[in-house]
Amino acid sequence: MIHLNPVMSDPNTQKKTKYIFVTGGVVSSLGKGICASSLGVLLKSQGYSVTIQKFDPYLNLDPGTMSPYQHGEVFVTDDGCETDLDLGHYERFIDQSLSRLNNITSGMVYWNVLNKERDGEYLGNTVQIIPHVTNEIKERIEAPLREQHFDVIITEIGGTIGDIESLPFVEAIRQFQFNHKADCVHIHLTLVPYLTTSGEFKTKPTQHSVKELRSIGIQPEIIICRSLMPLTKDIKQKIALFCDVDQRGVISAMDVESIYDVPLVLENEELDKVVCEELGLEIRPGDLDMWKKYVQGLHDPTAKVIKIALVGKYVGLNDCYISVVESLRHAAVENGAKVEIEWVNSEDIEKDTAQTYLDGVCGVLIPGGFGERGFEGKIAAAKYAREKNIPMLGLCLGMHVLSVEYARNVIGIKHAQSGEFKDKATDKIIDIMPGQRGAKKGGTMRLGAYPCKVKPKTVLHKAYQQAEISERHRHRFEFNNKYRKGFEENGMVFSGTSPDDKLVEVMELPDKHFYLACQFHPEFKSRPGKAHPLFREFVAAAKHFSGVQQSLPYES
Ligand code: GLN
Repeated sequence: MIHLNPVMSDPNTQKKTKYIFVTGGVVSSLGKGICASSLGVLLKSQGYSVTIQKFDPYLNLDPGTMSPYQHGEVFVTDDGCETDLDLGHYERFIDQSLSRLNNITSGMVYWNVLNKERDGEYLGNTVQIIPHVTNEIKERIEAPLREQHFDVIITEIGGTIGDIESLPFVEAIRQFQFNHKADCVHIHLTLVPYLTTSGEFKTKPTQHSVKELRSIGIQPEIIICRSLMPLTKDIKQKIALFCDVDQRGVISAMDVESIYDVPLVLENEELDKVVCEELGLEIRPGDLDMWKKYVQGLHDPTAKVIKIALVGKYVGLNDCYISVVESLRHAAVENGAKVEIEWVNSEDIEKDTAQTYLDGVCGVLIPGGFGERGFEGKIAAAKYAREKNIPMLGLCLGMHVLSVEYARNVIGIKHAQSGEFKDKATDKIIDIMPGQRGAKKGGTMRLGAYPCKVKPKTVLHKAYQQAEISERHRHRFEFNNKYRKGFEENGMVFSGTSPDDKLVEVMELPDKHFYLACQFHPEFKSRPGKAHPLFREFVAAAKHFSGVQQSLPYES
């Protein structure tokens, strides 16, 4: 059960916190997370302290056990919480690390309520959705304040208005605003379709969605309308009239090229100003210079296009590798390049050759993953990239792939394997961590931030310029120390280890253009304008590689 500390009040400042709730209507996947994050950027740029949290209506305790096909990427926080991928957007946009307080699910809420019931905390009462479940949710709205003061808390409610699952959350925020009337604002995100045949916007789905929201007691002050192109004044007027909102509260959010354009679009629509007015916050001049500079770099038409292959299993669904993709984009901007991702399904390589899919790319990235399917295809990709000296970056499972490939094809350990797939294998280069055997599936991996000691004069050190770093983990299997000596004798450098030297965290081949693999997930810490050092170096090497003959030595 999760116990919460008391809310911290700052007796010196007596600062009040304002609450913004973001709900979605009409269809899912409209980008509530990006809108919440963008509003966070705008309010932070005005100097307000902001945090963002996500309430997910599903019954899993966290998304850790869900298939990437269903849920997309599982994002991991420093404190080892497996969370919704929207937390990745929040962190990247507001440039702040979040914690387990920032993502709750219905499962967690019910878990707490039921544990309290078993502990007799309800003193003989009948335990009900209202008030027990809703009280638990209301407590969680303010939970971030238990660690520090925030001027604004933005809470995104997952799902779509009208879903049975999200009703307790919506009822909880209705009750919350009843007690904090002047301090709450409701933003509803909807879709305004444009019919190309008749050449008109359609407002009916928005009207219905707002009607649904009002029927459960919430009147939005702001409606953000996703549409193909900017809404006309007439349409804004119509939505304002039928949904009972001020016309300035109807915000047009047309489709844009990149998610990083969204804060600028919303600023242009004066979303932050309307929010401040609604909440009684002073409107301060915002400073978005850094953001604008990044967006400019992102759209720089002179940027050199480089092709990087992402060799994975879930390549049909980009959401599964969202942090990796964003990290590549951040690194590209910092290198004056534009990354074009070549999605390669490793199972296809198994039916063909690696060359068919990797010919012409100037970087190969093997991301994390679970399960044996496609593993041999990834090994073939790693072999091809190593032999052709194509810059290569392996992340988590990617490090396992590079290790097994090196053991088999360079050291000559024919039956080299990962214990994840062949527990009975004779040469398990990768093996399960002690204590992990037979562990339950949920929340039991090596999770969250761990320190890593960096060896001087290595690519790793060149990237970070630090003797010790901290990175986030999510895995059960590790490099088997039995094979360390053999690897080193064959040229591999273990450039990152746990401070006690017991766990391999990073390995690299110094004589390659770029060949590095890490046990952790650097992608969770990359941010626009502050590309992650490993991605920055990898993309720099790929850019360099694209411009030279592969036989030439690499110089940075
Ligand atoms: N499946 C591997 C493990 O559990 C790698 C996990 C990952 O890539 N995140 O160790």
